[in-house]
Amino acid sequence: MRDDVVGQDSSIISHPTVWKASGHVDHFTDPMVDCKKCKGRWRADQMDSKECPHGGSHELTEPQKFNLMFRTFVGAVEDAASVAYLRPETCQPMFVNFKQIQLVSRQKVPFGIAQIGKAFRNEVNPRNFIFRSREFEQMEMEFFVKPGDAKKWFDFWVQQRFDWYKGLGIRPDKLRLRPHGKDELAHYASMAVDVEYEFPFGWQELEGIAHRGAFDLTQHQQFSGKDLSYFDDAAKEHFVPEVIEPSAGVDRTLLMLLVDAYDVEQIVDEESKKSEERVIMHLSPIVAPIQVGVFPLSKKLGEPAQKLEKALRSEFRTFYDESGAIGRRYRRQDEVGTPFCITVDFQTETDRAVTIRDRDTMSQDRVALDQVSRVLKEKMAAWQRLPNKGTGLAA
Ligand code: ATP
Repeated sequence: MRDDVVGQDSSIISHPTVWKASGHVDHFTDPMVDCKKCKGRWRADQMDSKECPHGGSHELTEPQKFNLMFRTFVGAVEDAASVAYLRPETCQPMFVNFKQIQLVSRQKVPFGIAQIGKAFRNEVNPRNFIFRSREFEQMEMEFFVKPGDAKKWFDFWVQQRFDWYKGLGIRPDKLRLRPHGKDELAHYASMAVDVEYEFPFGWQELEGIAHRGAFDLTQHQQFSGKDLSYFDDAAKEHFVPEVIEPSAGVDRTLLMLLVDAYDVEQIVDEESKKSEERVIMHLSPIVAPIQVGVFPLSKKLGEPAQKLEKALRSEFRTFYDESGAIGRRYRRQDEVGTPFCITVDFQTETDRAVTIRDRDTMSQDRVALDQVSRVLKEKMAAWQRLPNKGTGLAA
């Protein structure tokens, strides 16, 4: 939505020198220890003690560096000269292409290049559902600024990114910012803050925002022999821009959305008036895969209900369901997180109105057919995350 950010879609396999310049060939490693007894391999920095997590053996090797990049060979010959890497992050091509993109998009510093796409890491211990996997999706942006302005932009992007997660309807007490200590900073960063979420398995990183200085452009300039400096028209000076990088995981964001939204409540069923359990996903209308469910009260009303659902399709993510008791249909939509359901009933033909039922409060409003779209938009804009009535996904 910003005027000062442009997108790109770069290749996944890139020239090995790109990863040499970025520091990945030499530094993108985890320290691994092997258990001589069970032959298991573990990340030394994630172990609480000097014991094998499988069985507690103390017969462990010294930590060895293990590079996380997936290697492949380009062309018909598999030798050292044809080695290439799958990108372990999406950001390097944004540095390599910085100059072309800046010229073509006619942007002036400060501006950003953003990319969403697959990244690959040979993680030794993938775990916690989709939290850590070997093939995942990243959203990254390199925001290029004039040297001297970087701290200001760093603070700006940390706040923007934190607000973005809150805007997805996540409970605010489950989100926090965690600045990196000096000993934690990556080799390229002079400042970094993580956005963290409290998963059932503890506080974990969703995104890192780093002040990378001029490290990357300077490195690529050196390894490629191409000038990557920027000419500032107004000040009549050349400089290598500094970079602020927000780097986020799509899979982790999705896992957070699911974990945060889940609850099991005790309710009185609208139809049978019996007490029962209701599984509810408190998803924000922004992210709910279905925003509006449309039901005919009886199959006989299928035609007008389908007509309404089709009319709403161009504006909302909709779903039509006519099977089973209406209470069951509401329950199914609660379980997938559909915030609003519309029921067409026997009165609809005469009063030209339908019922809109709210997932979170289970309240129902009668709304004129020609006002449905407007009312839905208002309700979506006013949506707020209500507290869980059950225990949610407790730790
Ligand atoms: P971690 O310390 O958890 O391994 P990282 O600090 O190495 O993560 P970055 O290199 O900063 O991660 O990558 C940016 C983002 O990409 C992370 O905040 C995370 O959301 C996502 N990410 C990184 N590795 C993985 C993975 N193996 N599976 C899923 N998402 C990942």
